[in-house]
Amino acid sequence: MFRAVRLLQMPLVNFYKLPIEGLSKETAEAVKISFKIPRELANDFTYLPGQYLTLRTSKNGEELRRCYSICSAPGEELISIAVKKVAGGRFSIWANEQLRVGDELEVMPPDGRFTHSCSASSAQHYLCVAAGSGITPIISIMKTILKTEHTSKVTLVFGNQKVSTVLFLQALESLKNQIYGTRSDYTHT
Ligand SMILES: Cc1cc2nc3c(=O)[nH]c(=O)nc-3n(C[C@H](O)[C@H](O)[C@H](O)COP(=O)(O)OP(=O)(O)OC[C@H]3O[C@@H](n4cnc5c(N)ncnc54)[C@H](O)[C@@H]3O)c2cc1C
Repeated sequence: MFRAVRLLQMPLVNFYKLPIEGLSKETAEAVKISFKIPRELANDFTYLPGQYLTLRTSKNGEELRRCYSICSAPGEELISIAVKKVAGGRFSIWANEQLRVGDELEVMPPDGRFTHSCSASSAQHYLCVAAGSGITPIISIMKTILKTEHTSKVTLVFGNQKVSTVLFLQALESLKNQIYGTRSDYTHT
């Protein structure tokens, strides 16, 4: 009885239809998908770096729900995710090959506890370690630290199988060389 009451009290989380505002191939195997959040949904889609979105679609009568970490950082105009193709994967191959700008996707508001709270007064040297598409929440956290904590530094160790499949290569170069200089550094393994 107690369990039933608890379930009834759980908040209902909705999916919202969001049009795709931007679509860019990050590599031959991964696509970055960006959404512009309408003003009336701004509170629902407020997020912390490291959180993820859940997307829903249906294929051949089957509902598919998949989670994708947010790779943008709070404060950016668009909220973005990156979907890497998985061999035989139903959602990831469809997202890479079929989606177009203007298509609507059903998206649940951000969730997840893998995050980091930044403090402007903090002066730390962070070491981030990521591999493959695991970079997505990390790049959001890195960007937020560099933007918020003006004297902190971030070092990233990033493992990938091939140079051609490295996600966010340009964005990482830009963090290192143009935006934050020596406060941002990364090493490929
Ligand atoms: C919190 C979280 C964050 C994530 N963030 C990201 C991210 O930022 N970027 C990203 O690319 N991914 C991310 N993922 C993974 C993502 O959610 C999906 O799992 C991934 O895209 C694969 O989904 P899919 O539908 O393409 O594959 P699926 O269709 O689910 O298939 C997955 C694998 O299982 C095999 N398979 C499927 N059905 C069967 C079957 N009946 N029998 C045997 N094998 C089968 C497929 O061949 C494939 O190899 C995240 C996951 C979580 C939980």
